[in-house]
Amino acid sequence: MQFRYGTTVTRVETAHGRATGVVTADGEFVPADVVVLNPDLPVAYQELLPERRQRRLTYSPSCVVLHVGSTQGYGKIAHHNIHFGRSWKGTFDEVIRRGELMTDPSLLVTNPSRTDPSVAPAGKHTYYVLAPVPNLDRAPFDWPGDLTDRYAQQLVGTLEERGYVGFGDGVEVLRAVTPADWAAQGMAAGTPFAAAHTFLQTGPFRPSNLHRTLGNVVFVGSGTQPGVGVPMVLISGKLAAARITGEHR
Ligand SMILES: Cc1cc2nc3c(=O)[nH]c(=O)nc-3n(C[C@H](O)[C@H](O)[C@H](O)COP(=O)(O)OP(=O)(O)OC[C@H]3O[C@@H](n4cnc5c(N)ncnc54)[C@H](O)[C@@H]3O)c2cc1C
Repeated sequence: MQFRYGTTVTRVETAHGRATGVVTADGEFVPADVVVLNPDLPVAYQELLPERRQRRLTYSPSCVVLHVGSTQGYGKIAHHNIHFGRSWKGTFDEVIRRGELMTDPSLLVTNPSRTDPSVAPAGKHTYYVLAPVPNLDRAPFDWPGDLTDRYAQQLVGTLEERGYVGFGDGVEVLRAVTPADWAAQGMAAGTPFAAAHTFLQTGPFRPSNLHRTLGNVVFVGSGTQPGVGVPMVLISGKLAAARITGEHR
């Protein structure tokens, strides 16, 4: 078994209805008996496989994540903290139906250095702030423009209003990851949460982990069955292994 880290696959080679191997970004052909594809499934179909046609899917909302290095600590928060706005249903309408940014944000704030101080310099702190936002299909915002800075400042202001006194003043490093970054990493509709778990995209209706025509191409990851999240993705790996060994056809 050989792992090749940092190697991008640009295409799956096929012959006579089967995959014969993959081609890497530097042009090397790597032969294979079976090809297991982990990229977001629509992207795998569009960019790596010969058959470009793919079922139209509805995607999950996306998120903006702020990674913050700070001088400011908060004694009363936990490792994971969820701060709900009052407008719970309204937030879903804004992000999912209307394609707007939350006006009364519900946020996840994680404070890794609280549990493990070694992840920050002595006496300093790390935070991760996750804000749900529309995916790029729903609202193709110009994230690489100054929207990202404005939105990051807005989120910092919201945290200060919710009790994180002096959060903005404590910031030493701030890196914002937006739907444009998720899209650049090869995630369809700029969301890291793949196809939405609507009824017709869940269970047996979710895109299959077997390729329609290439008998030795198997999919894993959140875009295929059973779905999104680390436990589900691990099950998709188990299903893929069973497909390959013939245990589950
Ligand atoms: C901010 C955030 C918070 C989350 N929180 C949680 C949580 O609390 N609990 C939970 O269960 N889940 C959570 N999730 C979701 C969970 O992380 C994902 O569902 C899961 O990691 C998806 O796994 P995957 O294997 O489908 O994709 P990935 O983990 O994205 O793996 C895909 C891999 O394929 C590689 N790749 C793509 N294209 C190519 C190519 N052409 N050539 C070579 N390699 C390629 C990528 O580099 C990547 O390493 C969160 C996700 C995010 C973004």
